[in-house]
Amino acid sequence: MNTIVEPVRETPVMMETDVLVVGSGPSGLTAAIASARTGAKTVILERYGCFGGVLTQVGVESFAWYRHEDTEDCEGIGREYERRAKELGFTRPEPQSVSEVIDTEGFKYVADRMLVEAGVTPLLHSMVVDVVMEGDALKGVIVEGKSGRKAVLAKKIVDCTGDADVAYKAGAPYTKRDKSELMGVTVMFNCAGIDVPKFKKFVEEDLKPTYADWGKNWDVITDEKEDDMFSPYMEDVFTKAHEEGVIPGNAGAIAGTWSTFTETGEALQLNMVYAFGFDCTDVLDITRAEIEGRQQAIWAIDALRHYVPGFENARLRNFGMTLGTRESRLIQGQTRVTKEHVLNQGRCDDSIGIFPEFIDGSGYLILPTTGRYYQIPYGCLVPQKVENLIVAGRCISADVIAHTTMRNMMCCSVTGQGAGTAAALAAMDDVSFTELDIAKLQKTLRDQDVRID
Ligand SMILES: Cc1cc2nc3c(=O)[nH]c(=O)nc-3n(C[C@H](O)[C@H](O)[C@H](O)COP(=O)(O)OP(=O)(O)OC[C@H]3O[C@@H](n4cnc5c(N)ncnc54)[C@H](O)[C@@H]3O)c2cc1C
Repeated sequence: MNTIVEPVRETPVMMETDVLVVGSGPSGLTAAIASARTGAKTVILERYGCFGGVLTQVGVESFAWYRHEDTEDCEGIGREYERRAKELGFTRPEPQSVSEVIDTEGFKYVADRMLVEAGVTPLLHSMVVDVVMEGDALKGVIVEGKSGRKAVLAKKIVDCTGDADVAYKAGAPYTKRDKSELMGVTVMFNCAGIDVPKFKKFVEEDLKPTYADWGKNWDVITDEKEDDMFSPYMEDVFTKAHEEGVIPGNAGAIAGTWSTFTETGEALQLNMVYAFGFDCTDVLDITRAEIEGRQQAIWAIDALRHYVPGFENARLRNFGMTLGTRESRLIQGQTRVTKEHVLNQGRCDDSIGIFPEFIDGSGYLILPTTGRYYQIPYGCLVPQKVENLIVAGRCISADVIAHTTMRNMMCCSVTGQGAGTAAALAAMDDVSFTELDIAKLQKTLRDQDVRID
């Protein structure tokens, strides 16, 4: 590859803070609120124009679709999101669980309010492009945006970028599967013009979908207890559309779930386009995936119009504002959470929270219908080698199956709360993340209504 040499330049320092959180998905938003509530001066920065990550930017509304009557669930700021969204009228009943979806547009406002109330300093439209290092110690980040290139310095930094961008640039060890193995990416879309009663009748009387249907296109290991349960999933119509030439492309990638409907006939969170072979840390790959994803979504709507009662007059309302990534870099932490830990109700002395035994992806579908849960170790948030850095969300240290459960939004909130609270305590006590008093961290989390055992 050709290279050029850029001139050395002086970069203005835009802000200095105790704790800087980079990225504002379920992990980052939670980390920032937790840090500020613990008493640290906190800044959150985000590359797009709204907070919320995949929830608001990709359009994923199913925040707790895993929850059933006997689920032993976590507690903490993630649960507050559900309550707050409900109070403000931004929820609807979720069709397959004991939970409500969170409206993806409404949550932009919920996130704004909760950050302001916690006293976090917000910074939108700012993309982290580099880091400021002194040896192995991370001192800040370089952001670019409409104001140009600026530095933001902090005593402690929480990487919640999903892709571990900060950890990667700081030189922390990480793993990333080959792109032929990574979980698929999705262009989410919403439709208008649906005859909802007609569609619901079709689902109840003809389609009768269950989780067992997921195994038609993908090899999925379940506990079998899931197989007969209702799942809002559709696959055969797309196979038929392909066979009959209604859609020209490879229909194998088109199949998936619907979520909720509005009173004006909109179908939301149509998660039906699943494309493989893309590395979302490569802009050329993301570009292709966005374009291919939109094409597949248009084909999916053609098929729905042809074959699905109630969708005859369906029209595209909108795509998610960006492609959805499920998997990319995972840091190599002080501890790596494993499949065995998750499937054997793993326990640990440095627990910062719990999450139910819920796995969705990478060949597994296990729903937490039996009260089983695992503890999340602090060590999986702390990267090797780089000081002053902690990580939360889907890029924590985990093997493939553990990542598949820990990537869920509620679990990202749990790791976000652990990381944000740890960052605040470490900044205020002036200690490193490896020296942090775990008992004090756990007490602080408990005082903030987190369930750690
Ligand atoms: C299509 C799809 C469907 C899904 N369905 C579900 C579901 O139904 N239920 C569920 O619980 N989970 C679901 N997931 C998983 C879940 O949404 C994600 O794993 C979760 O949102 C990850 O949270 P996070 O905070 O780690 O990262 P994200 O939500 O990805 O947030 C990362 C944030 O960091 C910002 N950012 C990234 N890089 C930079 C940078 N360099 N500088 C500044 N900002 C940056 C991003 O803009 C974003 O706001 C789904 C995921 C996808 C993609």
